[in-house]
Amino acid sequence: MKEIEIVSKAKIYGYEELSENDRELVEQAKKATQSSYAPYSNFHVGAAARLADGTIVTGSNQENSAFPSGTCAERTALFYANARYPEQCVKELAVAAFNKGKFTAVPTPPCGACRQVILGVEERYGRPVRILLYGEDGTYVMDSVKALLPLQFSGENMNG
Ligand SMILES: [Zn+2]
Repeated sequence: MKEIEIVSKAKIYGYEELSENDRELVEQAKKATQSSYAPYSNFHVGAAARLADGTIVTGSNQENSAFPSGTCAERTALFYANARYPEQCVKELAVAAFNKGKFTAVPTPPCGACRQVILGVEERYGRPVRILLYGEDGTYVMDSVKALLPLQFSGENMNG
């Protein structure tokens, strides 16, 4: 038997420690929570993707009474970015959540399906997507979704 160690690291920044660019992206993600349609969970998530040319595309969670038919903020933003600006790679993605009248203290991480989609975006453009997960008590920053998705399944698995 052998054992491997899988290590993920994230940096945690206070809001004032974030760069102006990072704050801008986080603010767009926070703003996007207000366009969420979440009558079932009342958990309003916003995502903001910055593209290579600086364009920022936002999305929010859109729920449906048939739950699987809705989708998350991250996928709304990324699929829209890829559909509207297919030639622009996604450089960064910020996520924020508004719940019970305020932004969450702890960052809201992407669900498993969104992590896989972010990985797909990294594969598509051949570059990592920097992730910023906003919380009132601190923002987690990762250089790639791979920090959130160890032992990820990618196209490379089908070539091996
Ligand atoms: Zn999701």
